[in-house]
Amino acid sequence: MSPSADCLFCKIVEGEVPADVVAQDEHAVAFRDISPQAPTHVLVIPRVHQPDVGSLAEAEPEAAVGLLRLARRVADEAGGSYRLVFNTGADAHQTVFHCHGHVLAGRSLGWPPG
Ligand code: 5GP
Repeated sequence: MSPSADCLFCKIVEGEVPADVVAQDEHAVAFRDISPQAPTHVLVIPRVHQPDVGSLAEAEPEAAVGLLRLARRVADEAGGSYRLVFNTGADAHQTVFHCHGHVLAGRSLGWPPG
């Protein structure tokens, strides 16, 4: 899907909104969350606009795999255990409707997530 004019994360991909980018490749961009919930809290997003991870997997499977690869790279660089979270839908606390995975690492993470 082409960039959406009013999408914050499309603007980060395009460099129109600044972000602390930690890694990127042809499929995905990884940048630090503005409100970190763990010592490492990085958002990994596809360059293409899709509203959530399921839509991305259906429409652009190569981009979905690319996103997962980049997320693993970020997590490996953080070291140790990590959690990869895709909040999907408003009741699951999705607030930005451009697919993104949260890489959370650097502290003990509780379960269930709440
Ligand atoms: P969600 O709640 O949709 O799963 O996650 C959206 C995430 O985007 C939140 O953790 C929020 O802190 C982060 N976020 C919102 N606006 C910005 C921004 O302008 N820059 C960055 N780096 N992160 C943002």
